[in-house]
Amino acid sequence: MKILTLFIFFLLFASCSKTKQTSQTQEIDPASSIVMAEIVESPTEEDNLNMVLMRAEIPQGIVDNIMKSARRDSVFFVALESATAGDPFLHFLVDKKHPLPKEYEPDDLVLLKDAEAYHINRSDLRLRKEAADSLEEMAFAAQADGITLLVSSTYRSYNYQENIYNRNVKEMGREIADRESARPGHSQHQTGLVVDFGSIDDSFALTKSGEWILANAGRFGWSLSFPDGYENVTGYRWESWHYRYVGKPLVDFIDTYFNGIQQYALQFIYEWEKNVLSVG
Ligand SMILES: [Zn+2]
Repeated sequence: MKILTLFIFFLLFASCSKTKQTSQTQEIDPASSIVMAEIVESPTEEDNLNMVLMRAEIPQGIVDNIMKSARRDSVFFVALESATAGDPFLHFLVDKKHPLPKEYEPDDLVLLKDAEAYHINRSDLRLRKEAADSLEEMAFAAQADGITLLVSSTYRSYNYQENIYNRNVKEMGREIADRESARPGHSQHQTGLVVDFGSIDDSFALTKSGEWILANAGRFGWSLSFPDGYENVTGYRWESWHYRYVGKPLVDFIDTYFNGIQQYALQFIYEWEKNVLSVG
C-alpha cells in the first residue's frame, strides 16, 4: 500500500514537471525564434531526404531504414548519386501517372537477331544498345546454366501503344484496358529498355527461364517492374515476364534501400530531382 501511494505520488510529480517543461518551451524569446527561422529556411540534407520520401509515398518501414542509414554516414547519398549517374532514361519514372515526353523515341535502338545467345519470337524487336548488350550477356549466362531465353516483346512506339490501347478499350472496356495495357506514352516499353520474356503470361513464372531470370536479372542490371502483390503501388498486376534494364548501380540501390521494389526507388528519384536538385 505504501509503495502504491509512493508510486502515485511519483506519477503526479512526473506529470507536473512535464507540464512545466512544456510551458517553458512555449516561452521562446525573439532572438532564438530568429535562429529557428533560419534553420527552417535552409533545410539540411536530412530534412530534404525526409520530405522527398514523404512526397514519394514510400512506406514508413523503408523511410525509417533510409533515414537511419543516412544519419549514420553518407553511403546512402553516394549510392543515390551512383544510381542516377548514368543515362537519365535508366531511372526515368514512366507509369500510369507519369508519361514519357510526348512521342519520345530513343535514337540508339538496335534490331535484335535470333542468335546463339537467345531466341526472338518476331523479327521486328528493338532495344537500346546498352540494354541489348546487357541482354546478350545475361542470355549467355543463362545458356551456361542450360537455359535459352525467349525474347517476346521490346520497344513499343507511341503509335503502337495508341493502337493497342484503343483496340483493348474497344474489346474489354476502359477499366480493364487500363489494367491490362498502358495509355499511349505511359508504357515502360517506350524507353527501349524493357523486355517481355517467354509466354507473356502467368505460366512464365514457373518455367525454368522465369525462375532463372528472377534469381539472376539483377546481376546484369535488369529489374522486375511489376512484382506480385504491388498492384496498388505500380498500377499493374503481377507481370513475372516484364523486366526493365536500369543498370547495375540502380539495381543495387533498389535492392539495398527499397526492398527490391523498382517503383518505390523511381518515385523517390523523381521527387528528389524535382524538389531538391532543381531547387538547389
Ligand atoms: Zn511488358
